[in-house]
Amino acid sequence: MNKNQFGRRDKLIQEKRIDTYQQTTKLPDPTVCTRCGCVFSNGRWSWQELPADTHNINKTLCPACKRIEDNVPAGYMDLSGEFFVSHKNEILRLIKNEADAESQEHPMERLMEIAEKPEGVLITTTGIHVARRLGEAVEKAYRGQLDYTYGDDEKTIRVSWRR
Ligand SMILES: [Zn+2]
Repeated sequence: MNKNQFGRRDKLIQEKRIDTYQQTTKLPDPTVCTRCGCVFSNGRWSWQELPADTHNINKTLCPACKRIEDNVPAGYMDLSGEFFVSHKNEILRLIKNEADAESQEHPMERLMEIAEKPEGVLITTTGIHVARRLGEAVEKAYRGQLDYTYGDDEKTIRVSWRR
């Protein structure tokens, strides 16, 4: 196998990995997530009531639950700085409220984890939109320095906020 073939193989593997978390995969309508209960119908995932008898409804893990299970975040957000440390509880409360509001509207946009770091916290999310919304909410409420960069063909985002 020559070098070109290796390159192509890597590319195929990468595309397959990304597709795993796409929201637009062709699923039977409706399909229900076995973990969180959100429903895929009319080409999108949403929170909705299912008929009482779900016996014959297609079941799967939704892309957000799959990211959580595989621990593959789409969004990363670093929060740091002296102001952050001294207002941490208040800022994290704002973040949780914003993330809840986003998840109600868009079930694939969720908070994954808030991990303590020596210099602040690292938050991971299942979607890029919620990460950006959290950054903008914190900046609006507390000013500070907000930066974000997209990666992986805009399928991932890294947000950082410092004050
Ligand atoms: Zn789910």
